Parts: sequence; structure tokens; C-alpha cells
Amino acid sequence: MAAYEYETHDYDVVVVGAGGAGLRATLGMAEQGLRTACVTKVFPTRSHTVAAQGGVAASLGNMDEDHWQWHMYDTVKGSDWLGDNDTIEYVTREAPRAVYELEHYGVPFSRTEDGRIYQRPFGGHTSEFGEGKPVSRACAAADRTGHAMLHTLYGQSLKHKAEFYIEYFALDLIMDDDGACTGIMAWKLDDGTLHRFNAKLVVLATGGAGRTYFSCTSAHTCTGDGGGMVARAGLPLQDMEFVQFHPTGIYGPGMLITEGARGEGGYLTNSEGERFMERYAPHYKDLASRDVVSRCMTLEIREGRGVGPRKDHIYLNLSHLPAEVLHERLPGISESARIFAGVDVTKEPIPVLPTAHYNMGGIPTNYWGEVLRPTADDPDAVVPGLMAAGECASASLHGANRLGTNSLLDIVVIGRATSVRAGQIVDRKAPVPHADDSKVDAILDRFDRIRHANGDNATAEVRLKMQRSMQNNAAVFRTSESLREGVEEIREIWGDMQTIKVTDRSLIWNSDLMETLELYNLMANASAIIEGAEARHESRGAHAHEDYPERDDKNWRKHTLAWVDASGKTRLDYRPVHEQPLTGPDEGGVDLKVLAPKKRVY
Ligand SMILES: Cc1cc2nc3c(=O)[nH]c(=O)nc-3n(C[C@H](O)[C@H](O)[C@H](O)COP(=O)(O)OP(=O)(O)OC[C@H]3O[C@@H](n4cnc5c(N)ncnc54)[C@H](O)[C@@H]3O)c2cc1C
Repeated sequence: MAAYEYETHDYDVVVVGAGGAGLRATLGMAEQGLRTACVTKVFPTRSHTVAAQGGVAASLGNMDEDHWQWHMYDTVKGSDWLGDNDTIEYVTREAPRAVYELEHYGVPFSRTEDGRIYQRPFGGHTSEFGEGKPVSRACAAADRTGHAMLHTLYGQSLKHKAEFYIEYFALDLIMDDDGACTGIMAWKLDDGTLHRFNAKLVVLATGGAGRTYFSCTSAHTCTGDGGGMVARAGLPLQDMEFVQFHPTGIYGPGMLITEGARGEGGYLTNSEGERFMERYAPHYKDLASRDVVSRCMTLEIREGRGVGPRKDHIYLNLSHLPAEVLHERLPGISESARIFAGVDVTKEPIPVLPTAHYNMGGIPTNYWGEVLRPTADDPDAVVPGLMAAGECASASLHGANRLGTNSLLDIVVIGRATSVRAGQIVDRKAPVPHADDSKVDAILDRFDRIRHANGDNATAEVRLKMQRSMQNNAAVFRTSESLREGVEEIREIWGDMQTIKVTDRSLIWNSDLMETLELYNLMANASAIIEGAEARHESRGAHAHEDYPERDDKNWRKHTLAWVDASGKTRLDYRPVHEQPLTGPDEGGVDLKVLAPKKRVY
């Protein structure tokens, strides 16, 4: 047994992650006087939320008429009818309140002439239940909305005396014999000490797993650690095969150019200078849903109409926009285009390509953020002591495809919901649970094994192999053959993991060890993605399967569940979609008939 000393901390609540979801949860917990610790591997304001550009969706109706019911409909349709309608209603109804709350906390939103919050159009956000014109629903702080939100939420959390454990890497969940979560173990990166956090409630808010792909818009820290921890605790991940490719990553480095650029009037062209989206989506054109635009771009390239010497990308045109729009509304992307593509957006188009951007799937939860452990009798059974929110979770607001600006919304609404629910279920007077020490020993044994791993495979090489395999086999379009190959390759790479090599044995600032721990987490996510995709014989949302080009509601309108064990062995099962919204038409809700699946055209 590995002999490590550790420091013990007792809290009511431990939140893992300090992005938008983690901070909103932390703030809500601390506000109610719950003793709350927020544990984060990077400084809070360096979380990936800081990079969010375009905006946060809410039917404020500041620019055009709008209603939460329209937002709900768009989200149901955007999800390709795989989202849970109770969650979708909860989040879209709460959206205006959540955005005004952010305003009151101090988020410096851009303003209209008369001083209201500025809103811009985004793909898939429409009026009249998908029949009317695009609606301006994205509340924006220029093109730095996530930056503004994250800094504000961090300030508010400090004001309410939440305690932060910064640059602590969460290793694993501590689960007791009854299957309840009683805390986490963490490794403090700057001094090598180990820490045991016991808590009545753990909230995972660890963000996405974008780094499972070779080319992605997300930060290097987006390694799906929450998913990895949950998988090792014997719990499933949900709908992981649905990975969003954003239409406009900068060709090459992959940095994001916000969809807000098209919201402000930008458009895509092919090698013939044609605005090809008009052909595919005559109504909403460049503002069709992301999965649709990414597929159209890929088709144009495949058919030989890509731009550049290798005809392998597409142009995004902004130079026709007035200079003041670019300066006031899109300053960040003008800068990114200059730095990463060497392009002056006032004069030239930006070279772009669909790039892995967002995980619709994640740790399954209800709309309070309570983590589910579905059984045959109860597909909605919850795990005591464990919640998840944000991109690491699947509540499922986004189903098979997320609408732009619905994630910043998701993180604040469900982040807050975890604290509302905690107020109901956390017993302040009860003692903090202490699981048996043997549980902690098992976590430390694994940590020690990886720290001393002495095989032949360098972490960076194995990671690259995994990323290339995912990129080649499970990107915008998928086939039975590519998915089969992907499954086999990822299984082989699990074999390489058995002989991984960590060269640095120290415990202080050991990035080699940290990246290896992250790679294990990435691998759990990659297995769930590829195995879930291979099994799903239909096309829905971001999962475009060329051998099964149609959506098949009869057989496949259900959530995938994937259990990935420590050796990568993956078992799949399914759970039903929640079709019932929270309220019916008599109470102002949307009629179930309006929410019923139909052909998804834009
Ligand atoms: C470039 C870009 C632009 C985007 N623009 C928009 C937009 O305009 N509108 C929109 O709605 N969405 C947008 N999105 C999506 C949205 O920003 C993200 O989905 C969302 O911010 C995720 O927030 P989060 O709190 O779940 O996770 P993150 O912000 O990624 O935070 C994760 C946190 O978890 C911590 N963590 C992770 N693992 C561990 C561990 N092992 N131990 C301790 N801590 C850990 C990290 O330190 C970090 O604090 C964008 C995404 C990208 C990449």
C-alpha cells in the first residue's frame, strides 16, 4: 500500500471546478451559509468559460418580440428531440431572471441606445415556434461575454466568503459502501501535498472534454476529469457520442470565431465566392443550427469547392460590416483573426473549418443537477451526495445538438439550481460523513501506480494517437467503417495505457504526472464517445451517420448510457427521454403537440 500522508478538510459542500457552473454553484451555496469549498486545478478566472465570446441566451425581448416558450421550442428542435423537456422548460423559463441576476451582480453587458442589455441573433434562435424570423436573443458583453461573467461570479463568490482551493487537482470521488459520495481526494500542485475533502455534497463542475479531439476550440485544461472520476466510481456517462463541431474554428490553430460574427451579418463563401448556405438552408441561411452549417461546409469541401491551395477550408466574410460594428461588437475576434490567421478582418475573409467545440453529453443529471444512477426499475434514480453541472453534465438541455449561447445559460441556471436543491437536502446539523479510510487508500494506490508508471509509452504520444483517432473516425460525418475502426483503435490505445511512462516522479509542479492523470480521464470520455457513436444507427443532431442518414425516433429517441471501467471496457444501455414538460398550456406552458418530433429544417 502506498504510504501518503494527507490533510483532512470537512465541509457541507465541495464544488470541483471554478468555471461559470462551479462559481455559480459555489456562490449559491455560500449565500445560504453552507460551509463551501471550491476546488480548482486552475485559477478560477482561467477556466474555459473565460473564452466564451458570443453571449448568453434569454428571451428578454430587448430588440425583437420574444417569449420563453419560443426559446423552449427552439431548444427542443435544436436538440433534435433528444433533450429532456422538463430541463428545457426549467432553463428557458429561468433565463431572463438569470440574466438580470448577472446584470445586478455587475456583468458589464453591451447596451442598446436606450440603455437596455444588447442582444444579437444566433443560429437556431427563432420566433413563432420556428416559423418566424431569427430573433436577437443572445445577451452579449461585446465578444467577451464569458470573460465578463466569470470575473463577476468570482468576485461575488469571494464576497460571500466561499473558500477556494486553487491549483488543487481532484483525483477521485470518495464513495462509501452504500454508493453515496462522501467527498473527494485532491493533489495540491504547487507543494505536492494530498488533501482529503469530506462533504455532505460534492458538485462536479469540471467542464468539457474537448481535448479528446486533435483540433478543438477548448483550452488544454478541458480533459473531462469529472467524467473520468464518475466512470471510475462505476457510474455511467450519457449521450457522449454527440460532440458539437463549431463551424468557424480558425483554419489550423482552431481558435474560435464566434457565431456572433454571423449574427452581426458575416457570411460563409466557397471557392466560387458563393454564399452556399442559401442553397442548404434557404430560410435561416448562415444562421441555421451549428450541426447543419458544419455539415454543409464539409460537403462543399468534399465536392471540391473548398478555398486555399489545398481546397480544404471555407471563408468567413466580415469586411462588408461597418468598421464600428467590428470595433464595438467583435473586437476580440478581430484580434484573434490577426494573431492566428494573419488576417485583417476589415479587408480579407477569415479561413475557417469546423472544429470540435462542445460536449452535449456528460454525467447524467436531473434539472436540479442531481447525478443519476439509472436502474431497470428507476431510470431517474439519484446518487446520494453527488451533483454535476455545466459542460461536464448532461441534464439534458442540449440533447443531440446545443444551440449557441445556451451553454452560458445552462451553467448559470443549473449551477444555481444545485444550490437551491442543496438548501433543501443538505442537513446543516448532521455530521460530515467520513467514508472508511480504505476508500482513500485505494485512490492513493492508483495515484502512486500512475506516478511510478515505467512503461514504454510517453503520455504525449499516446494522447496524440487518441486525438488523431477521434478526429479521423468520429468527426462531422461518421460511417459504420470509421466508427468500427475508431472503436478498435481506442481499445488498442487502452492497451498502450497499461505501459504508459511517467518520467518525473516528484510531487511538486509535476505536469507530466498531471497530464497522465488527465489522459486517463480523456480516455474514459473517448471510449464513451466512440462506443456510443458506433452503436447508434441513426443520424441525429451532431451525430451524422452516413450509413444511417435518417433520424429514427422509434428506435433511437433515447439517451445512451456508457459505463467505462478502469481498463476501458465499455458497456452500453439506454434510458428514456423526458418528453413531459413541467407545465401544460393551461399554465402558460407549451403544448406537447407543438413539442412533438418532426423533420428538422432551417
Ligand atoms: C472558445 C469558446 C467559446 C464559447 N462561447 C460560448 C458562448 O458564447 N456562449 C455559450 O453559451 N457557450 C459558449 N461556449 C461554451 C461554454 O463557454 C462552456 O460550455 C462553458 O463555459 C463551460 O463552463 P463550465 O463551468 O462547465 O466549465 P469550465 O469553464 O471549463 O471550467 C471547468 C473548471 O473545472 C476545473 N477542473 C477541471 N478538472 C479538474 C480537476 N481534476 N480538479 C480540480 N478542478 C478541475 C477547472 O479548473 C475549471 O475551473 C464556448 C466555448 C468555447 C471553448
